[in-house]
Amino acid sequence: EWDLVEEMYSCLSKYLDIYLLTYYDSVSDYQRYIKLPVKALGFDLVSNRENLENIRRFGFPKDKVLIAGVINGRQVWRACLDEKLRLVEELSKYAKDVIIANSCPLFHLPVSVEPENELEDGLKERLAFAKEKLFELKIIKSAIEGDQQARLEVERVKKLLSIKFGEVPEVREKVQNLREEDFVREVPYQERIKLQQDILRLPLLPTTTIGSFPQTEEIRMARTEYRNSKLSPEEYERFIKEQIEKVIRIQEDIGLDVLVHGEFERTDMVEFFAEKLGGIATTKHGWVLSYGSRVYRPPIIYGDVYRPEPMTLKEITYAQSLTQKPVKGMLTGPVTILNWSYYREDIPKEEIAYQIALALLEEVKDLENAGIKIIQIDEPAFREGAPLKKRDWTHYFNWAVKAFRLCSKAKPQTQIHTHMCYSEFNEVIEYIYQMDFDVISIEASRSKGEILSAFENFKGWDRQIGIGVYDIHSPAIPDKNSIRQILERAMKVLPVELLWVNPDCGLKTRRWEEVVPALKNMVECAEELRKELVSV
Ligand code: GLN
Ligand code: ZN
Repeated sequence: EWDLVEEMYSCLSKYLDIYLLTYYDSVSDYQRYIKLPVKALGFDLVSNRENLENIRRFGFPKDKVLIAGVINGRQVWRACLDEKLRLVEELSKYAKDVIIANSCPLFHLPVSVEPENELEDGLKERLAFAKEKLFELKIIKSAIEGDQQARLEVERVKKLLSIKFGEVPEVREKVQNLREEDFVREVPYQERIKLQQDILRLPLLPTTTIGSFPQTEEIRMARTEYRNSKLSPEEYERFIKEQIEKVIRIQEDIGLDVLVHGEFERTDMVEFFAEKLGGIATTKHGWVLSYGSRVYRPPIIYGDVYRPEPMTLKEITYAQSLTQKPVKGMLTGPVTILNWSYYREDIPKEEIAYQIALALLEEVKDLENAGIKIIQIDEPAFREGAPLKKRDWTHYFNWAVKAFRLCSKAKPQTQIHTHMCYSEFNEVIEYIYQMDFDVISIEASRSKGEILSAFENFKGWDRQIGIGVYDIHSPAIPDKNSIRQILERAMKVLPVELLWVNPDCGLKTRRWEEVVPALKNMVECAEELRKELVSV
């Protein structure tokens, strides 16, 4: 690959002055990189120290410009300008010309902190979004040029950042005191499953959904009215309860085996928990792109994370009180909460994951004590957080697996589900297995079941899998035939005892007119297959 890179840049540089930027990680082959025939070379100097160490060790060519990505374009923290200043000064010893820059594109950040007036006390002044990042670059430059104002600002920020913020010693202690057994369920899967089935008594090919049901205009309006104090908390709660009751009845009519409460009280699966957890802030205007034209507001993990009070208990237990069928408790997993938020950088990422996991574990225990038999912990961003370079994978997945196991250390009788949307499972299947859940639900309809090959190739796969037979990204209503095809494909490669039947993902973006007939087809298909299986 390097040969091609070299050839390409030699061709291009005949016609252009090239400013080559690299970001999100260090450059893998420093020596070849700095020999590329370009005018300027960019370095990410925040993701890790490798680039800097290489510059120190091997020097930098005198005839090139060094673009120093010193301001983190990915996180929302105000930079310690003093440190950055010294870094730039050091780099000036190696390169004749230094350009001061952000470490990567700024589209990971909201535009500006200015309009955020409801943040926790003291937080706003510690934050820098895109606009403020640019301002930081300007101050570094002015300070280097000897501007007195800028020098004062550098000092002011240094003082501000030296004050500890958001620390909760009890949380730190809990993480410090974790022992190996905290990450291991008491009873192995093969025995757990018997205990669970004794309680749940589910049929072959049990049917369920992933959690959310349509978030209609009516629901969004009620939420806005509640936020604008046009609905009182009591009125809003009553409204949510009505929605829950409605969705329980609909699921019973359709004949699903394991029910959900519908997630009507939630906006976004991460933001909802971020609002309830201590140590995490949410913004009012901090929109960024997630994929395509979709946007979301990433929460900001600024301190030690804890759970001031139960987060989901009221809605889940209310839903369970309305039906004899099991209702799944519904949580977002620690790795996904972390990967879809901005996070502090003063403690290792895994420690944050464990803090979130401990908070979720409290919720798991409350749900169990309230009689909830199945708890689903969603981890759609589990794979997404994997580092760019494979050499860093083991470390990441080790703690990611442990974080999941920590929060899912439920009683053996409690069935733990996880959900992962679409993912490239082949490369990570070993880690997925180590998560030690009882059931995983995955996308399978768009890939026509191809995704299952990962599980098929894994020797000794013995966990239950919910096959996503309904592509929820499309308004099309899947017919029984297409559902059947996917299930038959699955039954060829995995024991039918392991299979569940469900949509690909949550149904919140769909309309009721699509959801009801689609789920009916799904349930009927499962019932037909069951009959055929018993009669052979
Ligand atoms: N439980 C969530 C839902 O149903 C899961 C969403 C997701 O996987 N992205 O909406
Ligand atoms: Zn999903």
